[in-house]
Amino acid sequence: MTDVHEEVQLLAQKIKAVIFDVDGVVFPAEVTEGWYDAEGKPIRVKTRSYTDGQGVSLLRAIHLPVAFITNEHGDHARAISGVVEKWNTLPSSTKAPGDGGWPSVHLYTGMGGEKKVVAAKQFLQKVGLRSLQDCAMMGDDLVDVPLLRLVSLRAAPAQAEDVVKNLCHFVAKRDGGKGAIRDLANFILDARGIDPTTLPPN
Ligand SMILES: [Mg+2]
Repeated sequence: MTDVHEEVQLLAQKIKAVIFDVDGVVFPAEVTEGWYDAEGKPIRVKTRSYTDGQGVSLLRAIHLPVAFITNEHGDHARAISGVVEKWNTLPSSTKAPGDGGWPSVHLYTGMGGEKKVVAAKQFLQKVGLRSLQDCAMMGDDLVDVPLLRLVSLRAAPAQAEDVVKNLCHFVAKRDGGKGAIRDLANFILDARGIDPTTLPPN
């Protein structure tokens, strides 16, 4: 009998890059509305988990390039732009690759549905990879399905829609914005026999 878990571990050993959706993955699948600034412009509040930030760092520490692809753009993508900027200025981000430096985090905004596939291909080219089969991807809803279908390791946060989870090899124990990214990072490290306490944290 084939051990399904073992097959998924094999996929986690082979992938060379990781792609994440943003809302419902980095942030919870919800947003706080109804707050306005002095000019009457809506203030959208999103929360995220530091646990996930460490998960992104762990993936980078094992030299896996990471990309975030979202349908949101402009002001609506400001939250993720700020987070990615922070990650790209961590101490290990500013070191040279030969000196233990981490690969940059890539961000693509205004790219939903089929456009996520276009963004993913741009990302591959940037990091010198050829095939989406070299990637893992985590997404939570229908706009992620076209890209999920093309990658080798498909992952979803716990709260993802069933139609998405049913497509996936790996479903996190935690929800998006609450540890789902870390669950996937832990799984990838574990599949490779890497002890996270041996890696630089930032
Ligand atoms: Mg989403």
